[in-house]
Amino acid sequence: MRYLVLSDIHANIEALEAVLAAAGGQYGAVLSLGDLVGYGPNPNEVVTRIRELGPQLALVGNHDLAALGQLDLEMFNPYAREAAEWTAWCLASESRSYLSGIEPSAAGENVELFHASPRDPVWEYMEEGWQGRPNFAAFQAPLAFVGHTHVPRVFVLDESGGVTVGVPGAGETLQLEPGNRYIVNPGGVGQPRDGDPRAAYGIWDSEAATFNFERVPYDVPVTQGKIREAGLPEILAARLPLGH
Ligand code: ZN
Repeated sequence: MRYLVLSDIHANIEALEAVLAAAGGQYGAVLSLGDLVGYGPNPNEVVTRIRELGPQLALVGNHDLAALGQLDLEMFNPYAREAAEWTAWCLASESRSYLSGIEPSAAGENVELFHASPRDPVWEYMEEGWQGRPNFAAFQAPLAFVGHTHVPRVFVLDESGGVTVGVPGAGETLQLEPGNRYIVNPGGVGQPRDGDPRAAYGIWDSEAATFNFERVPYDVPVTQGKIREAGLPEILAARLPLGH
């Protein structure tokens, strides 16, 4: 089976549609790693589109929980908090009930999903090699997917117990070797933070044991215009073309 792996769409419908158009026909199922809403101007459109896709596994992220009123907004920086309040205000009841019905972690066949990290599915940003060991100890499967940082990453635990962390480039294919375990972050769809403004996504082929890191451009000025029109903080528009 080939899976389309999506994370951190953040209410950016233009980025999501660009990903779905680019990946069209290449996958049989969708895995959604959470943060469908927050920061961006189209929370209900994104939740509706994801519901229509019917992901095999879907997670709720910290921004989704904030919009539902289930997280303390004191944990957010001021512009994230302002966006969370705006999102909570405009979130439709169908969007609310969809997000309320999913968890920040989920398990499938030979794969586990966590919005942030295996040991802390809501908050930990997995960026550095030292975070690998305690997180590999926190799940069982050979492969886990995480999001939350909006930056593509690969953590590898090899058979001798060594952990390495890699920064995959756009278009790169990762071969998943038997005996190794992996924690993979596909990067963010709606607000990339690795200096590349293109929407990031991944294709996991469970039979070929490969993971492809993909990027696709989308119409950033359209999204920026909507952010400004909604009265969301200017930084949320300004950061998109910079990819951070
Ligand atoms: Zn996020």
